[in-house]
Amino acid sequence: MDEPLRPAPTDVEVAWSDLGGSGSPGLRLDAADVLTVELPFRRPVRTAAGTHMQRPLVLVRLEVTADGSEGPVELVGWGECAALTDTTYDSEDAGTAAQALVGSLVPALLERSGAGGGLPGPSAVTEPGSTRSEWPLATAALEMAVADAHLRASGRSFAGLLGVDAGSVPVGAVVGLEEDDDDLVGRVAALVDAGYGRVKLKIGPGRDVGPVGAVRRRFPGLVLMADANGAYTPAELDHLVSLDRFGLACLEQPFGRTDLATHAELARRSSTPVCLDETVGSPADVRRAIGLGACGVVCVKPSRLGGVAAALEVHRDAAAAGIPLWIGGMYESGYARSVNAVLAALPGFSLPGDLAPASVALGEDLVPDPVLEGRPLRVPLHRGPGMGPAPDGPTVDRLSRSVTRLAP
Ligand code: MG
Repeated sequence: MDEPLRPAPTDVEVAWSDLGGSGSPGLRLDAADVLTVELPFRRPVRTAAGTHMQRPLVLVRLEVTADGSEGPVELVGWGECAALTDTTYDSEDAGTAAQALVGSLVPALLERSGAGGGLPGPSAVTEPGSTRSEWPLATAALEMAVADAHLRASGRSFAGLLGVDAGSVPVGAVVGLEEDDDDLVGRVAALVDAGYGRVKLKIGPGRDVGPVGAVRRRFPGLVLMADANGAYTPAELDHLVSLDRFGLACLEQPFGRTDLATHAELARRSSTPVCLDETVGSPADVRRAIGLGACGVVCVKPSRLGGVAAALEVHRDAAAAGIPLWIGGMYESGYARSVNAVLAALPGFSLPGDLAPASVALGEDLVPDPVLEGRPLRVPLHRGPGMGPAPDGPTVDRLSRSVTRLAP
Protein backbone atom coordinates (compact mmCIF):
# COMPACT_ATOMS: atom_id res chain seq x y z
CA MET A 1 0.00 0.00 0.00
CA ASP A 2 1.39 3.41 -0.93
CA GLU A 3 1.89 5.76 1.96
CA PRO A 4 -0.01 9.03 1.65
CA LEU A 5 1.97 12.21 0.98
CA ARG A 6 3.77 13.19 4.15
CA PRO A 7 5.07 16.49 5.44
CA ALA A 8 8.76 17.29 4.88
CA PRO A 9 11.20 16.50 7.70
CA THR A 10 11.06 19.08 10.47
CA ASP A 11 13.95 21.28 11.58
CA VAL A 12 14.60 19.00 14.56
CA GLU A 13 14.81 15.95 12.27
CA VAL A 14 17.28 17.77 10.03
CA ALA A 15 19.41 18.79 13.04
CA TRP A 16 19.41 15.19 14.26
CA SER A 17 20.34 13.70 10.90
CA ASP A 18 23.18 16.22 10.53
CA LEU A 19 24.74 15.16 13.85
CA GLY A 20 28.09 13.48 13.17
CA GLY A 21 27.90 14.32 9.47
CA SER A 22 30.25 16.46 7.40
CA GLY A 23 31.49 19.43 9.39
CA SER A 24 31.50 17.43 12.65
CA PRO A 25 34.76 16.53 14.40
CA GLY A 26 36.01 13.14 13.18
CA LEU A 27 35.80 10.37 15.79
CA ARG A 28 37.63 7.05 15.84
CA LEU A 29 35.76 4.15 17.42
CA ASP A 30 38.34 2.30 19.55
CA ALA A 31 36.13 -0.23 21.34
CA ALA A 32 32.56 -0.94 22.38
CA ASP A 33 31.29 -2.63 25.54
CA VAL A 34 27.83 -4.14 25.85
CA LEU A 35 27.08 -4.35 29.58
CA THR A 36 24.18 -5.63 31.61
CA VAL A 37 23.75 -3.97 34.98
CA GLU A 38 21.08 -4.79 37.55
CA LEU A 39 19.16 -2.05 39.30
CA PRO A 40 16.90 -3.01 42.22
CA PHE A 41 13.20 -2.11 42.03
CA ARG A 42 11.83 -0.31 45.09
CA ARG A 43 8.70 -2.45 44.98
CA PRO A 44 8.33 -5.82 43.24
CA VAL A 45 7.05 -5.33 39.67
CA ARG A 46 4.47 -7.86 38.53
CA THR A 47 4.01 -8.67 34.85
CA ALA A 48 2.21 -11.51 33.10
CA ALA A 49 5.50 -13.45 33.22
CA GLY A 50 6.15 -13.15 36.94
CA THR A 51 7.30 -10.87 39.74
CA HIS A 52 10.55 -8.96 39.29
CA MET A 53 12.82 -7.52 42.01
CA GLN A 54 15.60 -6.34 39.68
CA ARG A 55 15.65 -4.32 36.52
CA PRO A 56 18.37 -5.69 34.21
CA LEU A 57 19.57 -2.79 32.10
CA VAL A 58 21.63 -3.23 28.94
CA LEU A 59 24.10 -0.41 28.29
CA VAL A 60 26.36 0.38 25.36
CA ARG A 61 29.67 2.12 26.12
CA LEU A 62 31.58 3.41 23.11
CA GLU A 63 35.21 4.43 23.54
CA VAL A 64 36.15 6.99 20.92
CA THR A 65 39.05 9.29 20.18
CA ALA A 66 38.51 12.80 18.86
CA ASP A 67 41.23 14.84 17.19
CA GLY A 68 41.21 17.97 19.34
CA SER A 69 43.22 21.11 18.60
CA GLU A 70 45.60 20.15 21.44
CA GLY A 71 45.95 16.51 20.47
CA PRO A 72 43.75 13.42 20.68
CA VAL A 73 40.95 13.38 23.28
CA GLU A 74 39.39 10.16 24.55
CA LEU A 75 35.64 10.20 25.13
CA VAL A 76 32.90 7.77 26.07
CA GLY A 77 29.43 7.65 24.49
CA TRP A 78 26.66 5.99 26.47
CA GLY A 79 23.52 4.24 25.23
CA GLU A 80 20.75 2.69 27.34
CA CYS A 81 18.41 -0.07 26.19
CA ALA A 82 14.87 -0.04 27.57
CA ALA A 83 14.26 -3.80 27.14
CA LEU A 84 12.85 -5.34 30.32
CA THR A 85 13.34 -8.73 32.00
CA ASP A 86 10.61 -10.35 29.93
CA THR A 87 8.56 -9.77 26.80
CA THR A 88 5.27 -8.82 28.45
CA TYR A 89 5.31 -5.41 26.75
CA ASP A 90 7.83 -5.82 23.92
CA SER A 91 9.16 -8.49 21.59
CA GLU A 92 12.72 -7.96 22.91
CA ASP A 93 13.83 -8.66 26.45
CA ALA A 94 17.14 -7.58 28.00
CA GLY A 95 18.79 -10.86 26.96
CA THR A 96 17.77 -10.77 23.31
CA ALA A 97 18.57 -7.06 23.07
CA ALA A 98 22.10 -7.68 24.40
CA GLN A 99 22.52 -10.56 21.93
CA ALA A 100 21.40 -8.34 19.04
CA LEU A 101 23.91 -5.68 20.05
CA VAL A 102 26.80 -8.11 20.50
CA GLY A 103 26.01 -10.33 17.53
CA SER A 104 24.85 -7.83 14.91
CA LEU A 105 24.45 -4.16 15.63
CA VAL A 106 27.80 -3.29 17.26
CA PRO A 107 29.87 -5.41 14.80
CA ALA A 108 28.13 -3.61 11.93
CA LEU A 109 29.00 -0.25 13.48
CA LEU A 110 32.63 -1.29 14.03
CA GLU A 111 32.88 -2.46 10.45
CA ARG A 112 31.39 0.74 9.11
CA SER A 113 33.62 2.90 11.31
CA GLY A 114 36.72 0.97 10.32
CA ALA A 115 35.94 1.24 6.62
CA GLY A 116 36.96 4.90 6.68
CA GLY A 117 35.40 8.14 7.78
CA GLY A 118 35.37 7.14 11.45
CA LEU A 119 32.30 6.89 13.65
CA PRO A 120 29.22 7.74 11.55
CA GLY A 121 26.38 9.85 12.92
CA PRO A 122 23.41 8.30 14.75
CA SER A 123 21.33 8.34 11.56
CA ALA A 124 23.61 5.65 10.14
CA VAL A 125 22.38 3.30 12.86
CA THR A 126 18.70 3.79 12.04
CA GLU A 127 18.67 4.61 8.34
CA PRO A 128 16.04 2.96 6.10
CA GLY A 129 16.93 -0.65 5.43
CA SER A 130 18.72 -0.91 8.77
CA THR A 131 17.74 -3.50 11.35
CA ARG A 132 15.81 -1.12 13.58
CA SER A 133 12.53 -2.86 12.80
CA GLU A 134 13.93 -6.19 13.98
CA TRP A 135 15.39 -4.94 17.29
CA PRO A 136 14.02 -1.45 17.95
CA LEU A 137 15.09 -1.39 21.60
CA ALA A 138 18.67 -2.52 20.93
CA THR A 139 18.93 -0.18 17.95
CA ALA A 140 17.73 2.75 20.03
CA ALA A 141 20.49 2.06 22.59
CA LEU A 142 23.20 2.07 19.94
CA GLU A 143 21.79 5.20 18.32
CA MET A 144 21.88 6.92 21.73
CA ALA A 145 25.51 5.88 22.34
CA VAL A 146 26.65 7.15 18.94
CA ALA A 147 24.78 10.44 19.37
CA ASP A 148 26.17 10.86 22.88
CA ALA A 149 29.75 10.43 21.62
CA HIS A 150 29.26 13.04 18.90
CA LEU A 151 27.56 15.52 21.23
CA ARG A 152 30.32 15.17 23.85
CA ALA A 153 33.00 15.56 21.19
CA SER A 154 31.45 18.83 20.02
CA GLY A 155 30.56 20.04 23.54
CA ARG A 156 26.86 20.25 22.73
CA SER A 157 23.75 19.18 24.62
CA PHE A 158 20.87 17.20 23.10
CA ALA A 159 18.53 20.05 24.04
CA GLY A 160 20.79 22.54 22.27
CA LEU A 161 20.96 20.34 19.16
CA LEU A 162 17.16 20.26 18.93
CA GLY A 163 16.86 23.99 19.59
CA VAL A 164 14.89 23.45 22.79
CA ASP A 165 14.70 26.70 24.77
CA ALA A 166 12.68 25.46 27.76
CA GLY A 167 14.59 24.96 30.97
CA SER A 168 12.25 22.26 32.30
CA VAL A 169 9.17 20.17 31.44
CA PRO A 170 6.17 19.07 33.53
CA VAL A 171 6.33 15.67 35.20
CA GLY A 172 3.51 13.16 35.70
CA ALA A 173 3.30 10.35 38.23
CA VAL A 174 2.01 6.79 37.84
CA VAL A 175 0.13 4.70 40.41
CA GLY A 176 -0.15 0.92 40.05
CA LEU A 177 -3.27 -1.17 40.62
CA GLU A 178 -4.42 -1.00 44.26
CA GLU A 179 -6.93 -3.48 45.67
CA ASP A 180 -8.50 -0.87 47.94
CA ASP A 181 -9.95 2.49 46.83
CA ASP A 182 -8.92 4.26 50.07
CA ASP A 183 -5.32 3.08 49.65
CA LEU A 184 -5.37 4.32 46.07
CA VAL A 185 -6.80 7.73 47.00
CA GLY A 186 -4.15 7.97 49.74
CA ARG A 187 -1.34 7.29 47.27
CA VAL A 188 -2.73 9.86 44.82
CA ALA A 189 -3.11 12.39 47.66
CA ALA A 190 0.57 11.95 48.56
CA LEU A 191 1.57 12.63 44.94
CA VAL A 192 -0.69 15.69 44.69
CA ASP A 193 0.78 16.96 47.99
CA ALA A 194 4.26 16.44 46.56
CA GLY A 195 3.27 18.68 43.65
CA TYR A 196 2.54 16.31 40.77
CA GLY A 197 0.01 17.94 38.44
CA ARG A 198 -0.81 14.81 36.44
CA VAL A 199 -1.46 11.31 37.75
CA LYS A 200 -1.91 8.15 35.71
CA LEU A 201 -3.84 5.26 37.26
CA LYS A 202 -3.36 1.68 36.16
CA ILE A 203 -6.78 0.07 35.66
CA GLY A 204 -8.13 -3.36 34.72
CA PRO A 205 -11.40 -5.28 34.60
CA GLY A 206 -13.09 -4.96 38.00
CA ARG A 207 -10.75 -2.14 39.04
CA ASP A 208 -11.83 0.76 36.87
CA VAL A 209 -15.07 2.74 37.46
CA GLY A 210 -14.83 2.41 41.25
CA PRO A 211 -11.22 3.48 41.77
CA VAL A 212 -11.20 6.13 39.01
CA GLY A 213 -14.43 7.59 40.44
CA ALA A 214 -13.00 7.64 43.96
CA VAL A 215 -9.91 9.54 42.83
CA ARG A 216 -11.94 11.93 40.65
CA ARG A 217 -14.34 12.80 43.51
CA ARG A 218 -11.43 13.68 45.78
CA PHE A 219 -9.48 15.59 43.07
CA PRO A 220 -11.98 17.18 40.65
CA GLY A 221 -9.39 19.32 38.86
CA LEU A 222 -6.46 16.89 38.61
CA VAL A 223 -5.19 15.90 35.15
CA LEU A 224 -5.99 12.20 35.37
CA MET A 225 -5.14 9.44 32.92
CA ALA A 226 -5.90 5.71 32.99
CA ASP A 227 -3.73 2.94 31.53
CA ALA A 228 -5.21 -0.53 30.98
CA ASN A 229 -2.15 -2.20 29.39
CA GLY A 230 -4.43 -4.03 26.96
CA ALA A 231 -6.49 -5.76 29.67
CA TYR A 232 -9.97 -5.40 28.09
CA THR A 233 -11.85 -7.29 25.38
CA PRO A 234 -14.18 -5.83 22.74
CA ALA A 235 -17.15 -7.08 24.85
CA GLU A 236 -16.26 -4.42 27.45
CA LEU A 237 -16.48 -1.49 25.05
CA ASP A 238 -19.74 -0.06 26.48
CA HIS A 239 -18.34 -0.35 29.98
CA LEU A 240 -15.25 1.66 28.98
CA VAL A 241 -17.44 4.37 27.43
CA SER A 242 -18.94 4.80 30.91
CA LEU A 243 -15.54 6.19 32.06
CA ASP A 244 -16.33 9.33 30.02
CA ARG A 245 -18.01 10.92 33.03
CA PHE A 246 -14.66 11.19 34.83
CA GLY A 247 -13.11 13.58 32.31
CA LEU A 248 -9.89 11.60 31.80
CA ALA A 249 -7.14 13.25 29.76
CA CYS A 250 -6.89 9.90 27.97
CA LEU A 251 -7.54 6.18 28.27
CA GLU A 252 -4.38 4.31 27.36
CA GLN A 253 -4.23 0.98 25.54
CA PRO A 254 -7.55 -0.55 26.62
CA PHE A 255 -7.34 -3.43 24.11
CA GLY A 256 -4.67 -5.80 22.79
CA ARG A 257 -1.62 -4.65 20.85
CA THR A 258 -2.94 -5.71 17.46
CA ASP A 259 -6.61 -4.76 17.88
CA LEU A 260 -6.73 -1.43 16.07
CA ALA A 261 -10.36 -1.93 15.01
CA THR A 262 -11.73 -2.01 18.56
CA HIS A 263 -9.60 0.97 19.58
CA ALA A 264 -11.05 2.84 16.58
CA GLU A 265 -14.60 1.84 17.57
CA LEU A 266 -14.04 3.08 21.13
CA ALA A 267 -12.52 6.32 19.81
CA ARG A 268 -15.72 6.89 17.78
CA ARG A 269 -18.05 6.25 20.68
CA SER A 270 -16.18 7.74 23.61
CA SER A 271 -15.50 11.38 24.46
CA THR A 272 -12.30 10.30 26.27
CA PRO A 273 -9.28 10.44 23.93
CA VAL A 274 -8.00 6.92 23.24
CA CYS A 275 -4.22 6.65 23.61
CA LEU A 276 -2.04 3.89 22.16
CA ASP A 277 1.15 2.61 23.78
CA GLU A 278 1.97 -1.09 23.31
CA THR A 279 0.43 -1.03 19.81
CA VAL A 280 2.95 1.45 18.44
CA GLY A 281 6.32 -0.21 17.82
CA SER A 282 7.36 1.94 14.86
CA PRO A 283 6.50 5.23 13.14
CA ALA A 284 4.57 3.21 10.53
CA ASP A 285 2.41 1.73 13.30
CA VAL A 286 1.56 5.25 14.46
CA ARG A 287 0.62 6.35 10.93
CA ARG A 288 -1.61 3.29 10.52
CA ALA A 289 -3.34 3.92 13.85
CA ILE A 290 -3.91 7.59 13.10
CA GLY A 291 -5.20 6.72 9.62
CA LEU A 292 -7.75 4.30 11.10
CA GLY A 293 -8.87 6.79 13.75
CA ALA A 294 -7.70 4.36 16.43
CA CYS A 295 -6.16 7.00 18.67
CA GLY A 296 -6.56 10.62 19.67
CA VAL A 297 -3.33 10.70 21.68
CA VAL A 298 -0.03 8.80 21.33
CA CYS A 299 2.28 7.71 24.13
CA VAL A 300 5.80 8.10 22.73
CA LYS A 301 8.42 5.72 24.05
CA PRO A 302 11.44 6.54 21.89
CA SER A 303 13.11 3.19 22.59
CA ARG A 304 10.09 1.13 21.59
CA LEU A 305 9.77 3.11 18.35
CA GLY A 306 13.44 2.45 17.51
CA GLY A 307 15.11 5.56 18.92
CA VAL A 308 15.25 9.32 18.60
CA ALA A 309 14.99 9.45 14.78
CA ALA A 310 11.83 7.33 14.97
CA ALA A 311 10.39 9.46 17.78
CA LEU A 312 11.01 12.60 15.75
CA GLU A 313 9.26 10.98 12.76
CA VAL A 314 6.24 10.27 14.96
CA HIS A 315 6.44 13.85 16.23
CA ARG A 316 6.20 15.11 12.63
CA ASP A 317 3.29 12.84 11.62
CA ALA A 318 1.32 13.50 14.79
CA ALA A 319 1.68 17.26 14.37
CA ALA A 320 0.36 17.00 10.80
CA ALA A 321 -2.66 15.05 12.08
CA GLY A 322 -3.23 17.29 15.11
CA ILE A 323 -2.63 14.39 17.50
CA PRO A 324 -1.14 15.35 20.90
CA LEU A 325 1.76 13.36 22.34
CA TRP A 326 3.30 12.60 25.68
CA ILE A 327 6.39 10.69 26.80
CA GLY A 328 5.96 7.33 28.48
CA GLY A 329 8.40 5.48 30.73
CA MET A 330 10.00 2.03 30.71
CA TYR A 331 11.74 2.01 34.11
CA GLU A 332 14.69 3.82 32.59
CA SER A 333 17.69 4.99 34.57
CA GLY A 334 18.05 8.72 35.09
CA TYR A 335 20.26 8.85 31.99
CA ALA A 336 17.58 7.78 29.48
CA ARG A 337 14.92 9.71 31.41
CA SER A 338 16.94 12.81 30.81
CA VAL A 339 16.98 12.07 27.05
CA ASN A 340 13.20 11.59 27.12
CA ALA A 341 12.69 14.84 29.03
CA VAL A 342 14.32 16.80 26.20
CA LEU A 343 11.97 15.23 23.65
CA ALA A 344 9.03 16.09 25.91
CA ALA A 345 9.95 19.78 25.49
CA LEU A 346 9.14 19.70 21.76
CA PRO A 347 5.88 21.35 20.67
CA GLY A 348 3.06 18.81 20.43
CA PHE A 349 4.01 17.00 23.66
CA SER A 350 1.05 18.57 25.38
CA LEU A 351 0.48 16.16 28.27
CA PRO A 352 3.03 15.79 31.10
CA GLY A 353 5.24 12.72 30.62
CA ASP A 354 6.21 9.79 32.87
CA LEU A 355 9.40 11.65 33.75
CA ALA A 356 9.56 11.35 37.53
CA PRO A 357 13.08 10.72 38.88
CA ALA A 358 14.29 7.13 38.51
CA SER A 359 14.39 6.83 42.31
CA VAL A 360 10.57 6.66 42.30
CA ALA A 361 10.88 3.11 40.91
CA LEU A 362 14.54 2.12 41.32
CA GLY A 363 16.60 1.69 44.48
CA GLU A 364 19.82 2.69 42.70
CA ASP A 365 20.56 4.83 39.70
CA LEU A 366 23.48 5.53 37.38
CA VAL A 367 23.21 9.34 37.65
CA PRO A 368 22.12 11.69 40.46
CA ASP A 369 18.38 12.39 40.63
CA PRO A 370 17.37 15.71 39.07
CA VAL A 371 15.92 18.22 41.53
CA LEU A 372 12.28 18.81 40.57
CA GLU A 373 11.03 22.37 40.72
CA GLY A 374 7.78 24.37 40.81
CA ARG A 375 4.17 23.42 41.35
CA PRO A 376 3.03 21.52 39.37
CA LEU A 377 6.40 19.80 39.44
CA ARG A 378 8.80 20.14 36.52
CA VAL A 379 12.07 18.38 35.74
CA PRO A 380 15.04 20.51 34.57
CA LEU A 381 16.59 19.60 31.21
CA HIS A 382 20.23 18.50 30.89
CA ARG A 383 22.20 21.37 29.38
CA GLY A 384 25.72 19.91 29.52
CA PRO A 385 27.43 18.03 26.69
CA GLY A 386 25.89 14.72 25.63
CA MET A 387 22.46 13.11 25.45
CA GLY A 388 22.20 13.29 29.24
CA PRO A 389 24.38 13.35 32.35
CA ALA A 390 27.05 10.63 31.90
CA PRO A 391 26.40 7.44 33.90
CA ASP A 392 28.82 7.12 36.80
CA GLY A 393 31.57 4.68 35.78
CA PRO A 394 32.26 3.14 39.22
CA THR A 395 28.51 2.67 39.83
CA VAL A 396 28.12 0.99 36.45
CA ASP A 397 31.05 -1.33 37.22
CA ARG A 398 29.71 -2.21 40.68
CA LEU A 399 26.21 -3.07 39.36
CA SER A 400 27.52 -4.80 36.24
CA ARG A 401 26.64 -8.49 35.80
CA SER A 402 28.18 -9.06 32.38
CA VAL A 403 30.39 -7.19 29.92
CA THR A 404 31.19 -8.09 26.32
CA ARG A 405 33.97 -6.08 24.74
CA LEU A 406 34.15 -5.66 20.99
CA ALA A 407 36.98 -3.93 19.16
CA PRO A 408 37.95 -3.42 15.53
MG1 MG B 1 1.21 2.23 29.01
